[in-house]
Amino acid sequence: MVLCPWFISCLEHRPFTDTPSPDLSSLLSLVQLDSTSLGKASTRSLQRHLHLQVPSSLNLSVQWRKFWSVAIPHHCRTVWCKMLWDRTPTRKRLNLFIPRRFLSSSCIFCQDATEDQYHFFFGCSINQQVWNVILSHFCLAWNLAEICLLLTRGSFPPRSSHQGLWIILSAVTAKAIWSAHWKFVFDDQPFLSGVVAQKASTVIEKHISTLA
Ligand SMILES: [Zn+2]
Repeated sequence: MVLCPWFISCLEHRPFTDTPSPDLSSLLSLVQLDSTSLGKASTRSLQRHLHLQVPSSLNLSVQWRKFWSVAIPHHCRTVWCKMLWDRTPTRKRLNLFIPRRFLSSSCIFCQDATEDQYHFFFGCSINQQVWNVILSHFCLAWNLAEICLLLTRGSFPPRSSHQGLWIILSAVTAKAIWSAHWKFVFDDQPFLSGVVAQKASTVIEKHISTLA
């Protein structure tokens, strides 16, 4: 509401006046930050303000340094990063932002549940089958809840001889599910859990040799 007059003044047609059109500095003077115009606000003030704008739903305790240092394929890290920021383009999200085009938020596969990020990667029966195959093949000791915590909350497993395997296993399998999901959506390729698990296993095994 404060900025409204500024935008209106930009749109006003003034053919017979020498008054200059409003520029960006006049807009900045209207925005107040800690009782100071935005143009004169300190960096510390701006940082504090931006920090408060971070949605409370985001997990700020993510071990980002650890996240960026783990040795995983680049495209796996990209998917994982979206998960940490809860930015997966799920049907729930698409329905929220583009309701005219995405009429339903139901899972595109089972139609039984809302396709939020958890359902997209872990909750749907088709990707649970993928995780079950992977876990039974590589490490029975770990479970899906711990993988979910790692991928969505950045809670890394305790240091152990299996830590590297768990991280690679989680990131690669999530990426395999992501790829199979979009191939189904855009290329009409069926989501075959066994095939997805096999592709993920091949990549995981290739990387196991780098853990030593
Ligand atoms: Zn589903």
